[in-house]
Amino acid sequence: MIWKEILIRYGELSTKGRNKMDFIRRLRENIRYAFADLGHLHIRTERDRMFIAIQDEAQMDVLLAGLPKIFGIQSFSPVAACEKDMDAMKQLALTIMDTFKDQQLTFKVEVKRTDKTFPLDSHSIQREIGGHVLPQYQNLSVKVKHPDVELRVEVRHDSTYMMAQVIPGAGGMPVGSNGKSLLMLSGGIDSPVAGYLMMKRGVRLEAIHFFSPPYTSQNSLEKVKVLANELTKFGASIRLHVIPFTEIQVLIKDRVPSNVSMTTTRRMMLKVADKVREEINALAIVTGESLGQVASQTLESLTAINAVTNTPILRPLISNDKLEIIDIAEKIGTYETSIQPFEDCCTIFTPASPKTKPKLEKVEHYESFSDFDELIERAVKNREVYIFPKKEQPKDKFADLL
Ligand code: ATP
Ligand code: MG
Repeated sequence: MIWKEILIRYGELSTKGRNKMDFIRRLRENIRYAFADLGHLHIRTERDRMFIAIQDEAQMDVLLAGLPKIFGIQSFSPVAACEKDMDAMKQLALTIMDTFKDQQLTFKVEVKRTDKTFPLDSHSIQREIGGHVLPQYQNLSVKVKHPDVELRVEVRHDSTYMMAQVIPGAGGMPVGSNGKSLLMLSGGIDSPVAGYLMMKRGVRLEAIHFFSPPYTSQNSLEKVKVLANELTKFGASIRLHVIPFTEIQVLIKDRVPSNVSMTTTRRMMLKVADKVREEINALAIVTGESLGQVASQTLESLTAINAVTNTPILRPLISNDKLEIIDIAEKIGTYETSIQPFEDCCTIFTPASPKTKPKLEKVEHYESFSDFDELIERAVKNREVYIFPKKEQPKDKFADLL
């Protein structure tokens, strides 16, 4: 096999000492995690790049397919290797250029000679390889500035290395390099996209879902599990906390006027989420809210909802149009799952005409007649936790009685 390793160029990287070390260490761990099925990978890190050693073609295929999903990688290139011998080098250059033979392309050879004992200097190597490759391909013409293909040749101490392709990475920062947040994950289109965007900024996620059986079906919960699992493709495991929310919703329906019940529902969700966030040591809460999308997402509503906590609420989609969100959902593969038609707990309790400009004092006044705190404590305590991608069934609460 001609491929010897994959060179990885780091994405956006704060250049300062410790942060940089952390970025590189995280990226290496995340790559190991994502490709755990391949066994132990040999990864060598340098200040500005990283190399994964390749054992065989099958491993190469898996890496090429998976690396574009990993945050923190700006681009990567398969690297071929051969003996430090001009004939072998010419032959390898031909083999690599063969993969471009059906396209009309501009081209140049760029040589770096790290091993100064090699008998030819960079310029001569460049001329010899270029002179060997060009006559064999009618489709190639030389262009020195910004060619379509730059065949990079590096004569190092152990071997000669070559690469011709720069494959774009996902950009962003390695998941985990920017702390942990709790994602409020509904079964809709928006929240998985919000989670993805925060992962891209290096945030590790746990997720929380509010579930109101029997008003919401088991299918709707399964859908949320599939979405949580899909998000793990981007390089980290996710714990999903499922909150039994029926009791709280029923109390809201009974005690709070229907035109502000949506606001109260959101406030209670946020209170529960904030307690779970504290227990799991997460620093912020992430939602899929987008300004003006629905009644609960006007500035007035967001203000009334937000008033229950000082915890930072991250809303990466706040300025996105629905179509832009759908675009990302399709790209990351969550759209098809999100549009499955299972009711989530809010659609069923949604009042006919929710207030778009709820007044905080009024909402607080209506809530003051009921003891929500006790119910919130209970909901947090009775939550079920699932881990993805490794599916772990929660302990069957009735098993002890059988
Ligand atoms: P989505 O498509 O993500 O469901 P949406 O447009 O349907 O969003 P809403 O239902 O108003 O919007 O919800 C706004 C946000 O509140 C969601 O993006 C999500 O972060 C959170 N949320 C709503 N319902 C739930 C739920 N059942 N469990 C957890 N979070 C929820
Ligand atoms: Mg929703």
